[in-house]
Amino acid sequence: AKSRGRNSIHYFTENMSTDFLKRMEIMRDLRIAVEQKQFYMVYQPIVNLTTSRITKAEALIRWQHPQKGLISPLEFIQIAEEIGLIVELSEWIFNEVTQQVDIWRKQYCPDLTISINTSPVQYKNNGAQINAWADSLILRDIPCEAISLEITEHLLMENQLEAVEALDKVRLHGMSVAIDDFGTGYSSFAYLKDFDFDYLKIDQRFVQNMSADNKDTALCEAIIAMATKLKMSVIAEGIETEQQKQLLIQAGCTFGQGYLFAKPLSAANFEALLIEQTRN
Ligand code: C2E
Ligand code: CA
Ligand code: CA
Ligand code: CA
Repeated sequence: AKSRGRNSIHYFTENMSTDFLKRMEIMRDLRIAVEQKQFYMVYQPIVNLTTSRITKAEALIRWQHPQKGLISPLEFIQIAEEIGLIVELSEWIFNEVTQQVDIWRKQYCPDLTISINTSPVQYKNNGAQINAWADSLILRDIPCEAISLEITEHLLMENQLEAVEALDKVRLHGMSVAIDDFGTGYSSFAYLKDFDFDYLKIDQRFVQNMSADNKDTALCEAIIAMATKLKMSVIAEGIETEQQKQLLIQAGCTFGQGYLFAKPLSAANFEALLIEQTRN
């Protein structure tokens, strides 16, 4: 038993140091990546569950590292937040997405809305960055309706007052706001009381375990009923099967996103979908 204990300590420190080194490398490389713009955006369609029409998409970032290849946002967004790079990175994301949505609205889909994931620091200083975004859209004649901001409960927990005030302001201009990963944080309900969201996104953890008459389905049904009463539209995330889709439609869910419809797509592939849709 003693030697096993020693071994597990050995493995533990070894893992800890590789994790630590990996983090250090990401921190170092991320600064260069932001300078050299080693990123691109992918777009995951959000479909109307009953009509199958696409009028929304979520923009998700990808990092193409020159040596390490593709790195998941799960591995670098949090680090970018910690070392303060997220503001600059988000500025790049915003410019990229707004140029794109403007073109797509003009050419293929006048009511297209693209959502952008936001981080807590973007709501600091009374939401200076978010407010600047609204101004930038107005200056460039892009309707604020073209952009939606996704916010996690975790974000709201850190900066509640500032976030609420900043969001109230951008909503006045017509940008919509979605609460992301709903049901995974704590005190979700308190946020619903303090702030008016346009969309509620049910976390994929609930959606992926839905089957006839189980707890996850009951929870989704309850969340959808509540959101509807509070005048929010619901987007279910992570739909992978036809059965999940059907159960969500029965529960009154309007929008869905997930591999059943499409994986996150390159701008060119998403554009091809929009073109196909204009022909139908
Ligand atoms: P999220 O906002 O909850 O985004 C949804 C994630 O679920 C995406 O992972 C998407 O690819 C994945 N997904 C979509 N449909 C399915 C499905 O049917 N099954 C499964 N298993 N997964 C599905 P991704 O792109 O790896 O992003 C992970 C997280 O990284 C995002 O979670 C978001 O929190 C963050 N993130 C991504 N892009 C950005 C960004 O541009 N800015 C910020 N601040 N965060 C971002
Ligand atoms: Ca999201
Ligand atoms: Ca989510
Ligand atoms: Ca998430």
